[in-house]
Order: sequence, then structure tokens, then C-alpha cells
Amino acid sequence: MSLIEITEVRKSFGTTEVLKGINLDVEAGEVIAIIGKSGSGKSTLLRCINGLETITDGSISVAGAQLLDDEVHLKALRLKVGMIFQQFNLFPHLTVGGNVMLSQTVVKKTPKAEAEATARKMLERVGLGHRFDAYPDELSGGQQQRVAIARALAMQPAALLCDEITSALDPELVAEVLAVVRELAAEGMTLLMVTHEMKFARDVCNRVVFMHQGRVHEAGRPEDVFANPQTAELKQFLGVS
Ligand code: ADP
Ligand code: MG
Repeated sequence: MSLIEITEVRKSFGTTEVLKGINLDVEAGEVIAIIGKSGSGKSTLLRCINGLETITDGSISVAGAQLLDDEVHLKALRLKVGMIFQQFNLFPHLTVGGNVMLSQTVVKKTPKAEAEATARKMLERVGLGHRFDAYPDELSGGQQQRVAIARALAMQPAALLCDEITSALDPELVAEVLAVVRELAAEGMTLLMVTHEMKFARDVCNRVVFMHQGRVHEAGRPEDVFANPQTAELKQFLGVS
């Protein structure tokens, strides 16, 4: 059994089918880059995996639990996968520590002292242990995104989904966020990341999935996918001919 099993998943918005039968199994510890043009369905796929969107057909299971369209299942699933977005979405009126504690205390009902201990540990992990009492607007964008990563980690997810998490950052802040992701990958975290950072995908990921028009159009090891793309669409996307 794979950690995440995505089988024949379809998703429509109204009459527009955006995911057209996605099959993808993710093993524990795998680091997968999802690449593809804007509009190819990458974000929708991640949102389906953590239950932010309900699927139209097919099935998704995470750690053996099937994603079913009811509240109990959705909640259980969201606890298993963390998601990080392009926008950090930190609460400005809460401290860094308060932000990392919030979903633990609200969603998981973790006692405050335990939530705080976990928050401190996760902030250490992303190199921000000393900023527990700071407010988000006192931090750089790169630091805020690292707080968002700590917040996701604090829920102890089985996998992390990252949707273009460096795209809103000034170029000089991208590296510090990618360094944290690289470390998580080395520690064995299962990661599914939509990214435009091709060099990072090549260096860190063990699989690359190229999406095109709502389908997995090509997939494989980074060294194969980047050096030897098979389809015209991937060649065009990578800018090789
Ligand atoms: P990507 O992340 O690869 O850029 P998306 O998954 O965001 O692609 O979008 C895929 C397609 O689905 C796009 O055509 C987009 O307009 C459409 N889409 C995404 N979310 C919605 C929505 N909530 N309602 C209607 N259409 C949507
Ligand atoms: Mg997107």
C-alpha cells in the first residue's frame, strides 16, 4: 500500500473537467515535483488530496484512509496532510508562536502547554526558534513562509503538499525556504510540491510529474524527465527541442 493512492481522479467545475483521470501513487518518503503550465490542474490536484476540493470521480486515500465526501472523513484526511501555499496566510494579530499553536489547539484540541512545546520545536526546525514572540510583519517573506512550514509540521502530517511556496518571494529569499524543504526531504518527509524551481526539482526530488491539460502527461526520475523528455508538450514546457 502506498502512502497516497490517487486512482482515476476526475474533478469538474461546472461543465469544465479540470482533472481528467489522474493516477498517482506516492510512497512514504518520496519527494515529488509537480510541474506544468498554468491551468494544467496542479493546484486543483493538491487541493483534492487534502480535501479542500471534493472530487467528481475516482478515489484518493492517504495512509489507508479513503477520502470520502463527508465531514468526518475530510477532517481526518486534512490532519494527515499538511498544505503550504504561495501566500503564507499567517494571522497578523498573533505572534509567530501563536500562529504555530493555533491549529493544534483549535483543530486537534492539543493542550496549550503541549502545543507550545511542539511549536517551539518546529520553529527550531525551520531555524526560527528565536522568533517565537515576534509578529509576522516583523519578519521577512522568507521567514514568514518558514513559519507557515512550521505551522504545517506542528500538526505532524504524514505528508506535506507545497503549492508554489516560493513564487511570492523576492528572489534573494527563495533559497532559505528551499533549504528548509531540502532538509525535510533528507529527514524522510513525504513531499508533493508544485514548483517552478527546476534546479531544485532536479537536485532534491526523486520523481517528477508533468501535468498537461488535467492529465499526468509524463512522469519519471528527474534525470530522465529533464534530460530526455518524451513528449512534444514536455519538450516545449522545458524549452528544449
Ligand atoms: P494550475 O495550478 O496548474 O495553474 P489550477 O488547478 O489552478 O491549475 O486550475 C486548473 C483549471 O481549473 C484552470 O482552468 C482554472 O481556471 C480552473 N479552476 C480552478 N479552480 C476553479 C474553481 N474554483 N472554479 C472554477 N474553475 C476553477
Ligand atoms: Mg496553481
